[in-house]
Amino acid sequence: MGDLEITDSQETQVGAVGVRRALPRQRRRTVGPWCFVDHMGPSPVRPPRGMGVAPHPHIGLQTVTWLVEGEALHRDSLGTEQVVRPGELNLMTAGRGVSHSEEGTDAYRGTLHGLQLWIAQPSATRNGPPAFEHHGALPRRELDVGEATVLVGELDGATSPARCDTEHLGVDLLVRAGTTTVPLRGDFEHALVIVDGALRLDEKIVEPGHLAYLGTGRSEITLVTRGPARLLLFGGLPFDEAVLMWWNFVARTRGEIVEAYRDWMTNDDRFGRVDSTLPRIEVGPPPWGP
Ligand code: MN
Repeated sequence: MGDLEITDSQETQVGAVGVRRALPRQRRRTVGPWCFVDHMGPSPVRPPRGMGVAPHPHIGLQTVTWLVEGEALHRDSLGTEQVVRPGELNLMTAGRGVSHSEEGTDAYRGTLHGLQLWIAQPSATRNGPPAFEHHGALPRRELDVGEATVLVGELDGATSPARCDTEHLGVDLLVRAGTTTVPLRGDFEHALVIVDGALRLDEKIVEPGHLAYLGTGRSEITLVTRGPARLLLFGGLPFDEAVLMWWNFVARTRGEIVEAYRDWMTNDDRFGRVDSTLPRIEVGPPPWGP
């Protein structure tokens, strides 16, 4: 069992919302297949812009959108238009190419608060077709002083219906003051981010803006809280493929990324079209090409 490692997130801006980027960091690129973790807000948003993320492309990953407050409208090149609200999961699989936007809804003005995460796809599926899933209801488990909602994977016999291309886990934990033990798979590596509140773990204090990396070899964790707290626990079998990430692309080689970049900038059919009022996002080329 490794020592608990706490790293600070990087503060940045995505669309209209300030985020704390917990992954990737210089010294930690992945936790299982999880390769990107943004804690969004809490930030005030208003229509029509809302979250305000204009159409952009992805390859080789799944996006997980999980809100604790507010709502967002997902649109993608598969023709999907799906509002996501607290307690619901949006899961988009990019495969060889997809594009999407994340905007406000006509109705909602107020606080937006949640998480967006990416899961690297394995070679077995990463060149496959794009797909989208929305799950309005997810399995739950009672904890000592709270409740677990399984977004993806399995916890204590509760299995999420969400697509899972590798062996991995993502769980929302909502706890009250007290001590809660959560069972873990010893062959998984795990990490957690705090969405609200704070907790004590291995005699260390973990707060919003931290990534707490737990390593492998733990059969459980014990969370101690003095008040209500909400966190996301995620992990999986250590990812055994060397992931190369640039902009919104998860690949293996620079050549794959240059090709995806060119296809986006030339409006190639690979990334389809998103029915959005926001202009598509364009960026300069990767530093090693084209
Ligand atoms: Mn995206």
